[in-house]
Amino acid sequence: MTENPASYSAKPETRGRKSIPADKRKPPQTTVKINDAILPFVKELKGNLKNKTLTPDILQSFFDVLNSKESNQDIDLQAENKELNALVRFQNQKIYELNDKPLAKENKQLRAQIEQLENKEHACQALTKSGSQCTKPAKLKAKWHGVEINVCLQHSKNR
Ligand SMILES: [Zn+2]
Repeated sequence: MTENPASYSAKPETRGRKSIPADKRKPPQTTVKINDAILPFVKELKGNLKNKTLTPDILQSFFDVLNSKESNQDIDLQAENKELNALVRFQNQKIYELNDKPLAKENKQLRAQIEQLENKEHACQALTKSGSQCTKPAKLKAKWHGVEINVCLQHSKNR
């Protein structure tokens, strides 16, 4: 172990608080007496200031609340909400136009077709004197040349 006697004698003073270089010293801070009622709030603020979560915007919104003005952030959010709602409505409308409308149309056509087929199935299958198919609803089944056909009340009688 070799100890330089020169450095020993030049050892800086280490007792007490380390002195901060003049250019890094904080400006003198304001000292105020505060009411205990607002002390927790001030402590919270100091904490937030320390961990850098206290932005000028947040400070401004605090002042706005204290001055019972609506904070700008709220107004921004409301505007954003309105915009989003309008967008959602617009997209819903588009979805409706793209999907529901043609589907509804198709559904209507299919339903009409089904109805038509059902009517055909349930219509009297006998021929009228003029030779066209009877349009009366079939109420009964009748045997005709070895097959069963649907017939109306009238055609079930006079075969
Ligand atoms: Zn008939």
